[in-house]
Amino acid sequence: MKKQIYLDNAATTRVYPEVAEAMLPFLTENYGNPASVYSFADTAKEAVDQARRVLAEGIHARPEEIYFTGGGSESDNWALKATAEAYRNKGMHIITTKIEHHAILHTAEYLERQGFEVTYVDVDESGVVRLEELEAAIRPDTILISVMAANNEIGTIQPLEEIGRIAKAHGVLFHTDAVQAYGHLPIDVEKMNIDMLSASGHKVNGPKGIGILYIRKGVKIRSLIHGGAQERNRRAGTLNVPGIVGFGKAAVLAFDRMEERAAYETELRDYLITRVMNEIPYTRLNGDPVQRLPNNANFCFRFIEGESLLILLDQNGICGSSGSACTSGSLDPSHVLLAIGLPHEIAHGSLRLTLSEETTREEIDFTLEQLKKILQRLRDMSPLYEDFIKKQDVKKD
Ligand SMILES: *Cc1c(COP(=O)(O)O)cnc(C)c1O
Repeated sequence: MKKQIYLDNAATTRVYPEVAEAMLPFLTENYGNPASVYSFADTAKEAVDQARRVLAEGIHARPEEIYFTGGGSESDNWALKATAEAYRNKGMHIITTKIEHHAILHTAEYLERQGFEVTYVDVDESGVVRLEELEAAIRPDTILISVMAANNEIGTIQPLEEIGRIAKAHGVLFHTDAVQAYGHLPIDVEKMNIDMLSASGHKVNGPKGIGILYIRKGVKIRSLIHGGAQERNRRAGTLNVPGIVGFGKAAVLAFDRMEERAAYETELRDYLITRVMNEIPYTRLNGDPVQRLPNNANFCFRFIEGESLLILLDQNGICGSSGSACTSGSLDPSHVLLAIGLPHEIAHGSLRLTLSEETTREEIDFTLEQLKKILQRLRDMSPLYEDFIKKQDVKKD
């Protein structure tokens, strides 16, 4: 088999063997329903409690403020829809940004169709939310501010503490989609005044289909899923015990070595970025050079179609992405790249490479080599590039 180089860790991550191992007994032996009374279910019940504790501790929340969901998308939907419903008597205005994940943006659009008003705040050229604009958007009927912790496409980290301060000063709830940041960056819901936070297992080497929504005690929020009394009557459905245990184990591993992991990834990321910028002409780095996820690199190559680039990388065993997994396959350029001010033709030539702590320097070197070859090949076939080079030559004469 051809060697695979997996550089799409923003789309999903590998389940660590320790995580799979921790989950297995809850599929085979300890399969009791944690809602049951008999002692056979106690092991499952205790494992869920233990996971809830570590998932809470990692962000300085309390276990009773953690609600299990079916993933990041569900948590985002829940945070927005149920806040809207619970607080609609106070007001019907919500603030978010132009660069959110579609789980937020499409939910916000749904709420607009239900009569809510949504302000989509701009970001600057590196993808940082414009704080003055955010604060100026707050009105007496604003009930919620939702700003992601770190962007899944360009990696930009948002100033959560400042946003939390603004939200609190105006008495508005603050939700953050922390799916890319949870377990990767330090988050403190107390210090940052975060009222609700979404996270997902499969973005931190846990299983897919399990997420959490942290809801600060005292926040009124309605159920999204109605049924049994699970999760203090707020999220019905039999708990996904293996998923919860796996997410808990993944969180322990992630929080235990967050610093080392970030340091390793940052160094490798900067090595990749420096070499790409130095060795490949007509290239742009998207996102903030410093305030960015340790594992994220995102470029635009002029005269290139991102999709063709991905196909050729794949033929060489390299998994990359042109933006987010959710928009790949659609021909529209990324809404995030448009929001940071890139014209369509540049935004089309984007490549996102997201590393992990298992990525090696050799893999990066191999990727660079292939990338340079492929880009040259694609540019040599591009009439736009040919035109551009001719004009450059004329200028030189
Ligand atoms: C992956 C992702 C989601 C969706 O999470 P799922 O668990 O896949 O539903 C939401 N927001 C961000 C920022 C993401 O990266």
